[in-house]
Amino acid sequence: MEKRKLIIIGSGPAAYTAAIYAARANLQPLVFEGFNAGPPGGQLMTTTEVENYPGFPKGIMGPELMDLFREQAQKFGTTFITEDVTHVDLQSHPFKVEAPSGIAEAEALIIATGATARRLQVPGAKDGEFWQKGVTACAVCDGAAPLFRDKHLYVFGGGDTAVEEAIFLTKFGSKVFIVHRRGELRASKIMAERALKHPKIEIIWNHVLTKVEGDKVVRSITLQDVNTQKETKHEAAGVFFAIGHEPNTGFLKGQLEVEPNGYLKVIKGTTQTNIEGVFAAGDVQDPVYRQAITAAGSGCMAALDAERWLSVREHAHA
Ligand SMILES: Cc1cc2nc3c(=O)[nH]c(=O)nc-3n(C[C@H](O)[C@H](O)[C@H](O)COP(=O)(O)OP(=O)(O)OC[C@H]3O[C@@H](n4cnc5c(N)ncnc54)[C@H](O)[C@@H]3O)c2cc1C
Repeated sequence: MEKRKLIIIGSGPAAYTAAIYAARANLQPLVFEGFNAGPPGGQLMTTTEVENYPGFPKGIMGPELMDLFREQAQKFGTTFITEDVTHVDLQSHPFKVEAPSGIAEAEALIIATGATARRLQVPGAKDGEFWQKGVTACAVCDGAAPLFRDKHLYVFGGGDTAVEEAIFLTKFGSKVFIVHRRGELRASKIMAERALKHPKIEIIWNHVLTKVEGDKVVRSITLQDVNTQKETKHEAAGVFFAIGHEPNTGFLKGQLEVEPNGYLKVIKGTTQTNIEGVFAAGDVQDPVYRQAITAAGSGCMAALDAERWLSVREHAHA
């Protein structure tokens, strides 16, 4: 059985940054970087150019950025297992981490399994179709791309995120439509008013997306009226899903405290969960910022928190 001081579960900016810091602190971390649970390397593996990660003024492709993170972690002595963790036992110490190849033990754990953006599974919006060719789930990440400039952009959703994303997109698109399947927004009153008053935003009530079409990129969408079932085709360059994210916590089977929205609960200003020695970093504990740089920052915090916790424990047992 593999026994480690620190096991990191997940991949992406948070897990890989935690691994870089932990490896440089001689903790010889073992990273279970996922296989089916999400792309090993995290959400950025599904995108093209990342233009807002500091240090890359010319931009960098998402997968290339994650390869560089991983390489840096490996260089300092991180071991990777490209498997999903299927179960953990946090009730006894050392913690047990179960994956298809067996069970590993860890004195400290960092959970950095990220979150998955919910997507509408309609024809044309899927992987290999127009996903990342005009269809996306992150306006802040992709909104400034040239293909959206001065074009009609459609945001799907009715909560605060949908309104925020639509307002952000007004900087780029000629017109931004919020399409909502209901007759009123779920967003807070103040946000809803901002959307309703914005000269570049139009809300299309009681409609759902049924199809995305284009050539190399998105050119049009089809919407359906939920009351009459009537379909209409609209010229469009951007389809932005703002229907929420799902933190990847299923394998924890309720062993850690979560916030009411399902995100892992950490002590404010730290990465400490409700179980001593278990830390959480990245999007799995962050419903607000959800960016590569913030995930990386909290990965660094988790490694430092874990290192300090291990060292205090070691001295107490010496
Ligand atoms: C299309 C798209 C474009 C984006 N563009 C940008 C951008 O331009 N700039 C920016 O800053 N941010 C961008 N983001 C957001 C950014 O990708 C995320 O904020 C960031 O990746 C979160 O990092 P994370 O470390 O929390 O983990 P994630 O990137 O969410 O990755 C977590 C990974 O953990 C692994 N995992 C999950 N469950 C398990 C398990 N049980 N066992 C083992 N491994 C597991 C999976 O492989 C999963 O992919 C974009 C997101 C998307 C979806």
